Amino acid sequence: MRLNKYIALCGITSRRKADELIVNAKVKVNGKIVNEVGTNIDENNDIVEVEGKKINLEQKKIYILLNKPEGYVTTVKDQFNRKNVVDLIGSVRERIYPVGRLDYDTSGLLILTNDGELTFKLTHPKHEIPKTYIAKIKGHPDKLSIDRFQKGIKIDNYITSPAKFKVLEYGKDFSKVEITIHEGKNRQVRKMCQAIGHPVLTLKRISMGNITLSNLKKGEWRYLSSKEISYLK
Ligand code: URA
Repeated sequence: MRLNKYIALCGITSRRKADELIVNAKVKVNGKIVNEVGTNIDENNDIVEVEGKKINLEQKKIYILLNKPEGYVTTVKDQFNRKNVVDLIGSVRERIYPVGRLDYDTSGLLILTNDGELTFKLTHPKHEIPKTYIAKIKGHPDKLSIDRFQKGIKIDNYITSPAKFKVLEYGKDFSKVEITIHEGKNRQVRKMCQAIGHPVLTLKRISMGNITLSNLKKGEWRYLSSKEISYLK
């Protein structure tokens, strides 16, 4: 089995992040550092250590849905030492981590797990699970701007795939809108809104596919139901 897949199956992190661990010489196989991505191991006999700790396959898989408040990071390490979403999940012993990311100043639906295979699947560019956000944006977008969401918007060096954009409410100098995208590029919604001239003032993710926040308050979390887990898989 590929070493990165084994690390993911043991619930340490996603396959992609496992490759980073390997390249950064954090992984040992049978006591020797392995830093070649693509290494194969014998999962029944080889002893694998990550950052000095032996890992193994029998770990209970945990799936959590958190209503992330603003003011928390979703990255494992933060250079400014800001609060991390994992700290909001108090009573869980397993080492869990967020699936994908939400910005420090974005709130809403975030899945945390120790299932590296699911993380790999959900964060893969080919995975098209729709993600819906409620955004408060500056000004009142016209039809032309709204059409650009449908057609695709150039952000960085990339054209976004068709997205949904629905105005829910017009305020005095802002609009409340519902946006659905199928990708998860860094700060994608903010960049798309900026590109049409209506910067985001606040942003909240309300659903991923048919999984919704239901009545979770900010900072609250719950386990995903088995129906929700099988939907994601
Ligand atoms: N798009 C953004 O711009 N930010 C997020 O946190 C999520 C999607």
